[in-house]
Amino acid sequence: MKTLIANGLILLYDESGWKTAKKDILISGNRIERIDDALSAEGCKVIDASGELVMPGLINAHTHAYMTIHRNCADDLAFFDWLDKVQKIEDSMTEEDVYWTTLLAIIEMIRSGTTCFVDMTIKSAQEMSGPKSAAAGAVRDSGFRAVISRGLAGTSDSEESLMKYGQAVREMEMFRNESRLSFIHGPHAPYSCMADYLRKLTQSCRDRGIGQTIHLSESLAEMDGMEKEHGMTPIRYVDGLGVFDVPVIAAHCVYATDADLRIMAEKGVSIAICPKSNMKLGNGFAPVKKMMDAGVNVCMGTDGCGSNNSLNMFSEMNAAALVYKGADRQAQDVSAADVLKMATINGAKAIGLEGQLGIIREGATADLILIRLNEPQFIPANNILSGLVYSSNGSETDTMIVDGKVLMEQGKLTSIDETRVFKEIRKMAARLNTSAASDA
Ligand SMILES: [Zn+2]
Repeated sequence: MKTLIANGLILLYDESGWKTAKKDILISGNRIERIDDALSAEGCKVIDASGELVMPGLINAHTHAYMTIHRNCADDLAFFDWLDKVQKIEDSMTEEDVYWTTLLAIIEMIRSGTTCFVDMTIKSAQEMSGPKSAAAGAVRDSGFRAVISRGLAGTSDSEESLMKYGQAVREMEMFRNESRLSFIHGPHAPYSCMADYLRKLTQSCRDRGIGQTIHLSESLAEMDGMEKEHGMTPIRYVDGLGVFDVPVIAAHCVYATDADLRIMAEKGVSIAICPKSNMKLGNGFAPVKKMMDAGVNVCMGTDGCGSNNSLNMFSEMNAAALVYKGADRQAQDVSAADVLKMATINGAKAIGLEGQLGIIREGATADLILIRLNEPQFIPANNILSGLVYSSNGSETDTMIVDGKVLMEQGKLTSIDETRVFKEIRKMAARLNTSAASDA
């Protein structure tokens, strides 16, 4: 059956920028078939979008969905102390734990307007039809969209690192026919992956025609360590190993230098900025204006719940538009239009789906959200972009369509049993004793 979204205000984008228009949208299968005035509702499921903004779903370009279990624990710690605490919890997590924590992440993303995420997870599903198959299974079962990577660390002659690599590849093979799900490699960082392992993963990307995602230049400790060990920045170091010769989403890049940014622009690397995580872990402010000026594709992520502590991309857009102005002492830097583009169009480009996702146009994939404008924070409606970035909190998300299917309608989820997920997570938190993680 076709779906007609009627009477809404549509957020559109073209070379001249963002604009709105009162139009109807006809969805056929997983595509936007037509955008026009007063389209016929015959034979359609009709969604009345009166008083609502219809906009592209947001794309969270860097997160660790399983980390919802780390929410509000291990807070207010220095970066490597924090990493140590969260590591202890995740070492005890099972494949099924990753399934439930990822489902919780998906619920939070649906309720705050995100339709797609790039994940770096800790377990690969080893049975596609297994009862609860890690992050990939959660995405498959919920009807959501994701690009999944298994976070990998170590060296190419370590048995454990090779085993995890093998599991990641096996999962890619198993889920290769799932349309809303794709895979990339996830080398964790240059300080946790040895050079030979980074080369091996890059070669594996080449062989499979996929990309990879990696944390880069996130903390001062990382910068100092790389300078001491290799005499160069992490970005120059991985470039020298060929990491950027395949499509890459580099997370953070807080300490990227001008020379680093030139390399990244030239190699077509996308940078996923994570402003709230960088502030919470005391890592500082990325040079976002310089990234944009250098011509780098800047997209945006929330990072995991252990360092944010939410997956709300509206909140992330708000932070991005505010903190970089403050850091640069330039009120005109990083505008509402810029950050909205990072969270939609640029995110789609980062995952190789430019023009298909992150935009409402005929022929594009139908990943859309409906936002209630009849809320105090949107009144008066002087400027819709400012409303979305400076006033919204994401909770105005009323209805969501992913791949042409309704995943939430008027606040009701259609594909996930929230009560069951909350129950499973509470049980898991008690078993893993997560509330004790902040104790000394
Ligand atoms: Zn991360």
